[in-house]
Amino acid sequence: MAAGDEEGQAAEPEAVAESEAAVEEPRSFKDLGVTDVLCEACDQLGWKVPTKIQVEAIPVALQGRDIIGLAETGSGKTGAFALPILQALLETPQRLFALVLTPTRELAFQISEQFEALGSSIGVHTTVIVGGIDTMSQSLALAKKPHVIIATPGRLVDHLENTKGFNLRALKFLVMDEADRILNMDFETEVDKILKVIPRDRKTFLFSATMTKKVQKLQRAALKNPVKCAVSSKYQTVEKLQQYYIFIPSKFKDSYLVYILNELAGNSFMIFCSTCNNTQRTALLLRNLGFTAIPLHGQMSQNKRLGSLNKFKAKARSILLATDVASRGLDIPHVDVVINFDIPTHSKDYIHRVGRTARAGRSGKSITFVTQYDVELFQRIEHLIGKKLPAFPMQEEEVMMLTERVAEAQRFARMELREQGEKKRSRNDDDDDTEEAIGVRNKVAGGKKKKRKAF
Ligand code: AMP
Repeated sequence: MAAGDEEGQAAEPEAVAESEAAVEEPRSFKDLGVTDVLCEACDQLGWKVPTKIQVEAIPVALQGRDIIGLAETGSGKTGAFALPILQALLETPQRLFALVLTPTRELAFQISEQFEALGSSIGVHTTVIVGGIDTMSQSLALAKKPHVIIATPGRLVDHLENTKGFNLRALKFLVMDEADRILNMDFETEVDKILKVIPRDRKTFLFSATMTKKVQKLQRAALKNPVKCAVSSKYQTVEKLQQYYIFIPSKFKDSYLVYILNELAGNSFMIFCSTCNNTQRTALLLRNLGFTAIPLHGQMSQNKRLGSLNKFKAKARSILLATDVASRGLDIPHVDVVINFDIPTHSKDYIHRVGRTARAGRSGKSITFVTQYDVELFQRIEHLIGKKLPAFPMQEEEVMMLTERVAEAQRFARMELREQGEKKRSRNDDDDDTEEAIGVRNKVAGGKKKKRKAF
């Protein structure tokens, strides 16, 4: 994947005040100081009790302090910063009140959804400003002066420099979400530019999965006397996650994947691959075998990416195949099983990937494929999470019975990939549509459109 995967160096802990909130017993949102109308909004979302990061961060934020939030994925951190911002907005209503910076487009839409859901009863207007979308309509949306802007740094800087009449001089809150990733994606210059044009007299919340040296530098530049709210030791995976591995020969990976998908049929899956090409190939392979699989990777257009994600979220597809573009931050609540089809090369990505399941108190499974080439990487992961994983139970003979059909599907998938490549070159198009490709393949195979049965 992109340069964003590069890991920052872990930083030495710095002397920062720690939140004193008790984390053992979740209390009610009201106990944390959240006002009634927002407590009702939480209730309507089914948020009965605050999560740990919310218990830690909300009272501190409501006291008007800056925050450094270190929280595991799926911890409810969006609520932890959105609720105090909405409460402050209720107290002093103002347009262009808060800015949330986030590394990816999908995450921006997701955060906006949570702001809208929590703030609908108080009439909050949000606007998402991200790349890949027409700037003109964004300028019009900014001219309406929303209360909250959720943006990726690059496009926001574009607007700050080029959109007449738009500025953030009255801003009261800045949130930097997934700050480690914003910095690893080389958005440092953009973040600096943004910091220069917003008031120094503001509240700042910096959330990060890990405290790297770059994050610590940003913290010093952007936060005033912050309180640290951390809910887990650095690299823990959540308790309700059952983690397994399978040790298999590289050449049978596809057959083992199909075996597991059949064994665990009825669940929703996220399957992580290391490259865009392998994501696309595996999606085609699975679709040829009758599975409802859909890809999500960086070589797809923004519309296709959102389309894939929405189909999966709406449960119209049960298998989402993705590169690490989706390993962080995406809120896909119903993922039951995460499969690391290609082992992550950076161990920290393992934590982010498996964090797609067992979110917000639910249980989930993860299965990591380990081939003869991956042993060292796997040992590093076990070292990082501080435990030895059990093997996922399998019937080898049953896997071997699948190899013939899988080989046939592999041939089709390769052919389809080639056709897609040629089509793309002739159209100079960046879209690749797996479902469209299956149609092409059916025609190539003599018009036989009979759907293959999942087996
Ligand atoms: P986040 O870590 O902000 O991406 O949140 C992960 C998921 O947890 C989202 O689907 C939220 O809607 C959900 N969530 C956040 N706070 C709570 C809560 N207090 N109770 C239950 N679910 C929550």
